[in-house]
Amino acid sequence: AKAFGKAQLALYNDSLQEEVHQRLNLENALSEALARKQFELYYQPIVQVSAGRSHVVGVEALLRWWQGERLVPPDEFIPALEETGEIVEVGDWVLQQACTQVQQWQQDGLAGLRCSVNLSSRQLQEDGFAQRVATILKETGLPAASLVLEITESLLMRDVPDTLATLRELESMGVRIALDDFGTGFSSLGYLHRYPLHIIKVDKSFITKAPDDDRLKAISRAIIGLGRGLEMDVIAEGIETPEQMDFLHTEGCNFVQGYWFSRPQSASMIHPILVKLSAV
Ligand code: C2E
Ligand code: CA
Ligand code: CA
Ligand code: CA
Repeated sequence: AKAFGKAQLALYNDSLQEEVHQRLNLENALSEALARKQFELYYQPIVQVSAGRSHVVGVEALLRWWQGERLVPPDEFIPALEETGEIVEVGDWVLQQACTQVQQWQQDGLAGLRCSVNLSSRQLQEDGFAQRVATILKETGLPAASLVLEITESLLMRDVPDTLATLRELESMGVRIALDDFGTGFSSLGYLHRYPLHIIKVDKSFITKAPDDDRLKAISRAIIGLGRGLEMDVIAEGIETPEQMDFLHTEGCNFVQGYWFSRPQSASMIHPILVKLSAV
């Protein structure tokens, strides 16, 4: 049994070493990615549905990494960027890029189009983050009211004393804050009271099965009601089917996002879709 244990341990060490090795490779490749212009933003429409008509109100910017021909999804590299701290620099690029693009689309006729950008906690913890946002808005010409910053509950959970001050500063500039992935992780209703939040995004894990799961239905309904009671906008994510659309419509959730309208696409691919979705 002992010999077997040793062999197991050696095997474990090997695979651990392999894992460390892969991680270092990933981090090395990532540290060059910005300079090599391997990052690209994809965009997904956020749609308002009322009286049976749909109308695009904004886009969410979603980061992609071109490693050669391979398009790497964010779940595979954002954690590494967060660990090395490079997410601060990359996140700054994302903000600049997204604001520039949406301002351009506004000029081209999509008046009032909103720009949603995902934030990492590291970015929000940077000194002077709100001022940095103000500078980017000024440089790109995007109105502050057109910018939505998406944060997650885990970011609020860290309870950094400055988080509240930064969020308040952003709010006073006219920027809106969305609470992403609501209901997953360690939700605390206290956050909704304590922090200046304007939008709740109902996580797609609830929406996906809601139409035929009574308990998920009840949860989704409660979140939508909560948002409405707090006079927040509620956006449902991950809408893929007409059944899900019907359900959300019945529950009075007017903002939706998902493959049903469009997958995230490059700026040039999404533009005609936005134009189509903006025609009332
Ligand atoms: P998220 O913010 O919750 O973004 C929504 C994710 O759901 C996106 O995955 C989107 O492609 C996907 N999605 C949208 N509609 C549907 C649908 O109908 N069905 C299904 N199954 N999925 C749908 P994506 O683009 O892979 O991004 C994953 C996560 O990576 C994001 O989750 C966000 O947390 C993070 N992320 C993406 N871009 C950035 C960024 O620029 N900065 C930071 N800090 N995080 C980012
Ligand atoms: Ca998001
Ligand atoms: Ca989300
Ligand atoms: Ca997520």
